[in-house]
Amino acid sequence: MHCWDIHTHRERQPYSILQAGGTKIEAGIPVSVGIHPWEVAPNWEAAFEKIKQEATQNPRVLAIGEAGFDRLKGPEILLQKAAFYAQASLASQLEIPLILHCVKSHDLLLEYLKSEKNPPNIIWHGWNQKPALARQLLPFPVFFSFGKQLLHPHSNAEQCLKGCPIDRIFFETDDSGVEIDSIYQGASLLLQLPVARLAAQVIANWNAISKRKIA
Ligand SMILES: [Zn+2]
Repeated sequence: MHCWDIHTHRERQPYSILQAGGTKIEAGIPVSVGIHPWEVAPNWEAAFEKIKQEATQNPRVLAIGEAGFDRLKGPEILLQKAAFYAQASLASQLEIPLILHCVKSHDLLLEYLKSEKNPPNIIWHGWNQKPALARQLLPFPVFFSFGKQLLHPHSNAEQCLKGCPIDRIFFETDDSGVEIDSIYQGASLLLQLPVARLAAQVIANWNAISKRKIA
């Protein structure tokens, strides 16, 4: 059973979803494509058209993202919102998850989730928010991807993982340089579950929320 890394910026890692962003996409490699909230340009629609084409035609595009909101960085929030809504709708149409980047903006996510009848499955990546916010999100199709923060004792990530429904969890390395095996081992200790069990759970979780499967 492979320990899938559902969000990484490191190329050529097996069993991982590479955040391809605007870079050239190698054939056959599982990737996520999207417009990061920091990179939403005034003419983002042109970039979005390319992403839409790639995501529709390439079955190895396993997710849309990172997309989302960031109040600390990037262009004005109205622009970020427009790009997010378009990308969320694309993920929903393709029935693949959206990988969320969300900084100081959970209100915008909740606003979206409360107003949208057909949201995609959303994976909040690098989850390290308070357990109270996780509870607020549980009525919606929101999933939590845990990364290096999990390895910091008493972090929000650590606390949240322990209380998180097991069918809502994923693991990732992001841009950390930490090995994915270390993240699974950390989670295994916290949850008192074998790494192989977590690996199987993550694969099952993914396949339950995406039309494009992993194995
Ligand atoms: Zn990332």
